[in-house]
Amino acid sequence: MSITDDSTTAEEAAAAVTAGNESDAPPFSLELSQDQQDIRDWVHGFAENVVRPAAAEWDEREETPWPVIQEAAKIGLYGFESLAQFFADPSGLQLPIVNEELFWGDAGIGMSIMGTALAVAAIFGQGTGEQVGEWIPQCFGSEEDPAVASFCSSEPDAGSDVSAIRTTARYDEAKDEWVINGQKAWATNGGIAKVHVVIASVDRELGSRAHAAFVIPPGTPGCEQGVKVKKHGIRASHTADVHLDDCRVPGSCLLGGKEKLDERLARVREGKKSKGQAAMQTFEASRPTVGAQAIGIARAAYEYALGYAKEREQFGKKIIENQAIAFTLADMKMEIDAARLLVWRASWMGRNAHTFTNAEGSMSKLKAGEVAVWSTERAMQILGGNGYTREFPVERMARDAKIYTVFEGTSEIQRIVISRAISGIHIR
Ligand SMILES: Cc1cc2nc3c(=O)[nH]c(=O)nc-3n(C[C@H](O)[C@H](O)[C@H](O)COP(=O)(O)OP(=O)(O)OC[C@H]3O[C@@H](n4cnc5c(N)ncnc54)[C@H](O)[C@@H]3O)c2cc1C
Repeated sequence: MSITDDSTTAEEAAAAVTAGNESDAPPFSLELSQDQQDIRDWVHGFAENVVRPAAAEWDEREETPWPVIQEAAKIGLYGFESLAQFFADPSGLQLPIVNEELFWGDAGIGMSIMGTALAVAAIFGQGTGEQVGEWIPQCFGSEEDPAVASFCSSEPDAGSDVSAIRTTARYDEAKDEWVINGQKAWATNGGIAKVHVVIASVDRELGSRAHAAFVIPPGTPGCEQGVKVKKHGIRASHTADVHLDDCRVPGSCLLGGKEKLDERLARVREGKKSKGQAAMQTFEASRPTVGAQAIGIARAAYEYALGYAKEREQFGKKIIENQAIAFTLADMKMEIDAARLLVWRASWMGRNAHTFTNAEGSMSKLKAGEVAVWSTERAMQILGGNGYTREFPVERMARDAKIYTVFEGTSEIQRIVISRAISGIHIR
């Protein structure tokens, strides 16, 4: 099956997404439609047959698995058309379902395939229709020659505290260009991306209220990769610093356009409220999907440990016959299912936008990340000595899971968001 069997163009796909936003919300249902099941099974097949067999190799190599990305592009799993169709599902569940299956295959490779989506979400969420049509297809490249994209918000001194961003964007009116200077840290696909989306301040005095998102077109001078980060997990996913040194981009690269930015700045300077912040908008929309990735890892570790416990014998019986092991597996299953329910709820609410308060997205990501860390650690324990070796995949899964309590908002930051939402008090 290929999701691009029909000849959907990027513009049509974008229109489908927008139209989907306006449609009547379907009731929340846990019964997946035939379409949702078919796509889930199709992605699962790819994860099982292409991603899993390649996982250990690319983890050891610590390199972007281009052959796997190419394969994903060839079958139509990697590209804007497929992402837009997943996103357009009015229930909101297709995107988390796809992510869970892919990351069940392997999280490092999964992130190499899905890392582009963060930049795409920023362009889609903040760009004009014209910008969406121009830049999003370039984020993915073509079926024959796929590319990746990078979303660069974090900086050495601005991780959880997005308001501390020091990267600046100055408008050169004579040339209608923006001049961007600064250093970005830990950017997924940073430096190897065709398109970078960079968050910069247009007025440092206004803090995060003057943040704006800029597209850095392919090959722009002054945008260079810095140090490539050596990581604990998701090692097939490229993470690096990005240096922006008098990086000049056309005026049209400001997402949303200058008029809108000027209006926002004027409101802020008058002391009125601004409508959210560029980076935070992107993070909030993507949290349940990130949670789904964590669930994919947790489920993979649980399934492996269950199979192992039913085979491994000690003291003359299968180790699963001990309640200590069986109860652990029962708890793992329950926690994973509970996390998935939170992710699906937040995804449905995010898509249908009835009473979304932001905290549901944070709750889903927090729970899923912590369940992934806990479940993979338990899986290692069930495998005993084998769990501690690189010969068995749960060791890699445990390393991969840890990032889900750190990026896209640490667990502590999620708790701050939730506690503020439930209390109405500015908890610090
Ligand atoms: C593999 C990887 C990929 C990444 N990809 C991207 C990417 O593509 N784009 C991007 O922009 N960024 C990316 N990041 C950056 C990531 O989002 C940040 O690492 C994360 O937001 C945390 O920031 P920090 O590392 O500076 O930690 P800090 O903010 O320094 O936090 C350190 C500790 O202090 C805690 N803490 C901080 N403030 C508070 C508070 N107010 N109350 C309680 N506890 C607090 C944190 O929870 C954490 O435990 C990536 C990071 C990694 C490791």
